[in-house]
Amino acid sequence: MRFIDQFSLKDKKVLFRFDYNVPLDSSQNITDDSRIRATLPTINYALDAGARIIIISHLGRPKGKVKPEFSLCPVAKRLSRLLHKDVVMAPDCIGDNVRGLVDSMKSGDVILLENLRFHPEEEKNDEGFARQLATYADVYIDDAFGNAHRTHASNVAITKFVKECGGGFLMKKEVNYFQKCLEKPARPFVAIIGGSKVSGKLEALVNLIKRVDKMIIGGGMAFTFLKAAGYEVGKSLVEEDLMPMAAEVMKTAKELGVKFYLPVDCVMAPEISAEAETKIVPIQEMNSHWMGLDIGPATITLFTEALANAKTIVWNGPMGVFEIDAFGRGTAAMVHSVANSYAMTIVGGGDTDVAVHKTGESDKITYISTGGGASLELLEGKELPAIAALDACGGAL
Ligand code: AMP
Repeated sequence: MRFIDQFSLKDKKVLFRFDYNVPLDSSQNITDDSRIRATLPTINYALDAGARIIIISHLGRPKGKVKPEFSLCPVAKRLSRLLHKDVVMAPDCIGDNVRGLVDSMKSGDVILLENLRFHPEEEKNDEGFARQLATYADVYIDDAFGNAHRTHASNVAITKFVKECGGGFLMKKEVNYFQKCLEKPARPFVAIIGGSKVSGKLEALVNLIKRVDKMIIGGGMAFTFLKAAGYEVGKSLVEEDLMPMAAEVMKTAKELGVKFYLPVDCVMAPEISAEAETKIVPIQEMNSHWMGLDIGPATITLFTEALANAKTIVWNGPMGVFEIDAFGRGTAAMVHSVANSYAMTIVGGGDTDVAVHKTGESDKITYISTGGGASLELLEGKELPAIAALDACGGAL
């Protein structure tokens, strides 16, 4: 796979696929522009190199229809502010009008095309649609890691129709960090897996258990493991059908000599509510009518000790229902433990990045992934379709 710094960009029309799927409030104001900021190194590099910059992206789920609330106009405005230069907003992403705008571009111009998902062909990986997008490009650069696990026209089919295809700096960083930790991790290598359900992370667990030295399980999914190990877990989140798989993962850990850590205490409540009564109990003392909603203080100590000698830590999924303060202490404490460890730390997926930002420790984490679903698929050991397409592309024009 080639990256942007391996292409000559001077005076070229460079088509960038970014992930500008930013959160908007009801007045169409961007509430978090980190996805736009994450693309600035790639755009600035191309500007310095004298390229003509054409940007495509999706936003939200308009389901193949033109819906003004999913327009990329607010993104054009913010990008213009961040770049200190005009960003032209095109009325569509295909058609004569857009072609005219692209044809009149000069070196250093930036144009953002309207939401790809206003066309149903985008999510169908339609070759005709991809061909139309490809006609804008001398060079195609995909920097939309957050969308790399999707097989869409703008990130997969398109690579068949542009001669020069590569990844941007964000893609390079994401791929390098995950590759480094999965293929040649500095050891001990510890995985912390949390979040709601085992089902969503089973493939990642199965892949990681073969690679790590220690596996730490928290969040709702821990209760399926605890129940499989014979504990009463009350009304905690349990996937009964996955208990045999959970037992299998623990058996594999034992066979491979992987140290496997489950919570030893938890914060229990009768319901998921900020007003609910809570109590901290050892796992052995969980009652049958409440649910476990966070890891307890003894678990925080145990997990923190387990991280003490780690050299690589990968973390996906919160330790509890961190959206509610009463059940957010475990996740916050683990953020501090990970941030203060002497390891290369990679965080991503679910809401783990949100939790890290919430605690203000982001600067102390080596790498925070920008793609939840995409990073989880890398942890599952899968090849992402967009990356496979860039690897394979050669220009079938
Ligand atoms: P995921 O997308 O699978 O990483 O799950 C993230 C979600 O898991 C968050 O919204 C948390 O509120 C939820 N979660 C974490 N711990 C628990 C728990 N003990 N019980 C129920 N939900 C949980």
